[in-house]
Amino acid sequence: MDNQVDQTSKIIKTIKIDIDKCNGCRACEVICSAFHAMPKYSSNNPARSRIRVIREPLRDVYVPVLAGEYTVSECAGRDKYTIDGKQYEECAFCRASCPSREEFKEPDSGLPLKCDMCEGEDEPLCVKWCLVDALTIEERQEKVEDLEQSLALEDLEIGLESLADKFGMDKIMDVLVRMNEKE
Ligand code: SF4
Ligand code: SF4
Repeated sequence: MDNQVDQTSKIIKTIKIDIDKCNGCRACEVICSAFHAMPKYSSNNPARSRIRVIREPLRDVYVPVLAGEYTVSECAGRDKYTIDGKQYEECAFCRASCPSREEFKEPDSGLPLKCDMCEGEDEPLCVKWCLVDALTIEERQEKVEDLEQSLALEDLEIGLESLADKFGMDKIMDVLVRMNEKE
């Protein structure tokens, strides 16, 4: 990819996960937790890792999951996955740090953990340490306006969700209808 980025574009980096290549070695968990230890590399506790590998050695199923956003409330709809005939528990592959489970929480403080793409490093360390290329980095250029627009929409959705949590959706709709009538 051309590394020249004009003023109107930004590089977006994504970690691509190929579960067919993952062998469950957990090197990604080890390096992630060591990188995020305080001080850096002073300890290694996979519970502190921002990547978690779901392992089913008897079935040769290994699924790395990257820590995503923190959520204040657990979701009402859940997913169930069946892989090679085995059904996995609800939330098994969820990326969120959520009040209903222990995953992706700092073990001592309980603070939420989120992948920060190894801020300050040239390349995400889990990608670097994955010797079988189950984790690879993909880069794409995105127009800044598109990006800003999608971020603004995301902010709006988050704002509406928290208002709905606080006051209830009926009340929000009521206010919106009244505002519309005034215009
Ligand atoms: S380092 Fe790569 S192969 Fe090993 S568990 Fe992580 S993703 Fe899988
Ligand atoms: S990119 Fe860095 S912070 Fe994110 S999971 Fe990989 S090692 Fe951890």
